[in-house]
Amino acid sequence: MTNPLLDLSGLPRFQHIQPEHVEPAVDRVLDENRRRIDEITAQTQPNWENVVAPMEQMEHRLSRVWAPVGHLNAVMNSDSLREAYNECLPRLSEYSTTVGQNEELFRAYEAVAASPQELDPAQRKVIEHALRDFRLAGVDLPPEQKLRFKAIMQELSTLQARFEENLLDATNAWSRQVPDKSELAGLPEGVMDLARVAAGEKKQDGWLFKLDFPTYHAVMTHADNRALRWEFYEAWVTRASELGPDGGRWDNTPVMDDILRLRHEAAVMLGFDCFAQYSLATKMAGSVDEVLGFLNKLADASHDKAVEELDELRKQVDAALEAWDVAYYSERLRKERFDISDEELRPYFPVERVIAGMLDTASRLFGIEIRQSQPPDRWHPDVEYYELHDQSGLRGSFYVDLYARGRKRGGAWMDDCVGRARTRHGIDLPVAFLVCNFMPASGGRPPLLTHDEVVTLFHEFGHTLHHLLTRIDFPSVSGINGVAWDAVELPSQFFENFAWRPEVLPLISGHYESGDPLPEAMLERLISCRKFQTGMHMVRQLEFALFDLTIHSADHAMSNEEVAETLKKVRRKVSVVPCPDFNRFANGFSHVFGGGYAAGYYSYKWAEVLSADAFSAFEETDILDRETGRRFMESVLEVGGSVDAMDAFIAFRGREPRPDALLRLSGITDQ
Ligand code: ZN
Repeated sequence: MTNPLLDLSGLPRFQHIQPEHVEPAVDRVLDENRRRIDEITAQTQPNWENVVAPMEQMEHRLSRVWAPVGHLNAVMNSDSLREAYNECLPRLSEYSTTVGQNEELFRAYEAVAASPQELDPAQRKVIEHALRDFRLAGVDLPPEQKLRFKAIMQELSTLQARFEENLLDATNAWSRQVPDKSELAGLPEGVMDLARVAAGEKKQDGWLFKLDFPTYHAVMTHADNRALRWEFYEAWVTRASELGPDGGRWDNTPVMDDILRLRHEAAVMLGFDCFAQYSLATKMAGSVDEVLGFLNKLADASHDKAVEELDELRKQVDAALEAWDVAYYSERLRKERFDISDEELRPYFPVERVIAGMLDTASRLFGIEIRQSQPPDRWHPDVEYYELHDQSGLRGSFYVDLYARGRKRGGAWMDDCVGRARTRHGIDLPVAFLVCNFMPASGGRPPLLTHDEVVTLFHEFGHTLHHLLTRIDFPSVSGINGVAWDAVELPSQFFENFAWRPEVLPLISGHYESGDPLPEAMLERLISCRKFQTGMHMVRQLEFALFDLTIHSADHAMSNEEVAETLKKVRRKVSVVPCPDFNRFANGFSHVFGGGYAAGYYSYKWAEVLSADAFSAFEETDILDRETGRRFMESVLEVGGSVDAMDAFIAFRGREPRPDALLRLSGITDQ
C-alpha cells in the first residue's frame, strides 16, 4: 500500500489518511529534500533553473504533503493524529531552520540575484524574500548560535501547539447540564434543540450545554438568567488557566512564559532589540513606533464614541453593569433601537441561500463562475466542495466545512490545501479549506446564520478568493504566500463590506420556509445597526493589538506578572468595558500564543484601513461594478506576494491608504 499522503496526483484522500502515515511521509520528503539541496549547492554555476526553481518545487511538495495533516489535526482531532502531528512539528522546524541557515544555499541565491540572467519581477521577489528569510533564520550567526537558534525554533513550534491543545481540551472538558427549563428563559430555539439532543446522547435529563463558541455566544447574548451567564462567562474566560472550574488542569501560564522567553532570545540573537522588531521585519509596517502611533490614533478617534455607547448601555441596567451583562444588554438595546435581533434575522439567512448569493456576488464582481462539485474524498459528511472557473477554464477549488462539532478547533479560518505552482507536470491549481464553526441544523430547520456569521463567512471567502485567483506560478509568492502579514486581511475584510450592502443583501437572504425576501424595513434597520457600538468594538480590538505589541516590544522577556500587569495597563488606557480580576484572556489568546499573529494582531486594524479604503472605490462607482472589480482582482488578488502590499494598493487606488474610509464606514466619524 502506498502512503496516501505521498500521492499528489490529485486531491488528498482524506478518508485514507491514517495517523501512521504522517511520520513516514514527512520523513521521506524531508530526506529527499535534504539530498536534493546537497546537489543544488554542489553546482558551480547557480542560476534560476538549477537553484530557485527546484527549491520552490520542494517547498511546494512539502506543503502539499503537510497541508492535509495540519488540516485534519484542526478539524478532526484525535489522540493518535495529534501525537503524529506533534512528532513532526520539531522535525519540520528543524528542517526549515537548517535550510534557512545553509550558507552554501544562501550564497547560491545571492549568486542568482547578482547574475545577469533576466528574471521577471515575480522571480526577483522570490529571491528577495528568500534572502531576507535566510537572514531571519540566522544564516549569518556563528555555528554555536545557529544550533541554539534552531533549538529555539523547534521548541517554539512545540510550545505553540501545546498552547492550542490546552485551550481545546479545556473547552471540550466543560459542560453544564440544566434540568429545569425555567433556567433557560430567553435562549434561542436552535441552541436549546442542540442541548436537548446532547443531553439525550448522554442519557441525561433536560439540556446539556457545551462551551463551543456558538453556544457560549448564545448564552451570553440571550439568557435572561444572570447566574447562568456568569457561569458560562467564568468558564470561558478562565479556560486553560489556573482559575475556573478546571483551574490548573490545562494551565497555559507556564507555556506562555516559555514562549515569550524564547521569542525574545531568538530576536536578540539576530540583532533585534525585541521580538516585535523581528516580527515587523516581514511586514508592511516599518517600526514598532509606527504601529503604536497608528493604534493610538485610532484609539483617540474612537474613545469618546465608546464611552458614550457604554453609558447608554449602563442606563439599561439597574445594578452595576458587569462583563457578563454586556452582550445581553447590548442585544436588548439593539432590539429596542433598531427593532431587530439576531434571532429574528436568522430565519432569513439559511446557509444555502447565503452561499449561493455570496458566490453570485463574487461572480458579478470578478467575472468568474463558481459551481458546486464532488470532491474525490471528504473528511466529514458536512463538507462541501466548489470549483471556480473563468472563460479560460478552471482556476481553483475549495472545501467548505461550516459547522461546530467536538474535537474541531474553534473559530473560522481559510487555509491552503494546494498553492498555485508550476511543476514538471504543468500547473498545480490552488485549492483552499474554508472552515467555520456555525450552529448545525436542528429541530427540523436547515442551518440558519446570524448576520454576524454571514459577515464571518464573507471574510473567510475573501481569503479564499485571494488564494484561488492568483496568477503567480511560484509557490512562495502565489496566493496568500509571501503577502506581508499585515496586508493579508485586506481581501477578507474588503469582502465583508459587501455583506452589509442593500445591493447584496437581497442576493444572500430569503426566509427558509416561505422564501420571502428580507423585508425592506428590516433590511434598512440591519444596515443602520452596522454602526451600533462600533466605538466599543474598535477599542476592544485596539486593546488586543496594543497588549500583543507591548508584551513583545519590551527590552527583556516579560514575566507572567508583567504580562498580566501590561494587560491591566492597556485596559485602563483604551478599554471601556468592565473586566473582572479573574479574567484570563491571555491564556486563550491563540492568535498570539498559538501561532502567527505574535506582534501582529494589529494587522487586523492595519488591513482594515486598507480594505475600507479599497471598498470606498466601489462606493464611488457602483458596488458591483465589474470594471472596478477587475482592477481590484488584477492589482491585488492576482499578484499574491509578488508585489509589495503598498505598491499593490497604490496600483489599485492611485494613492497611499487613508484611515478616513474606515472611520466613516464604522460610524466613528460622519464623513
Ligand atoms: Zn482573516
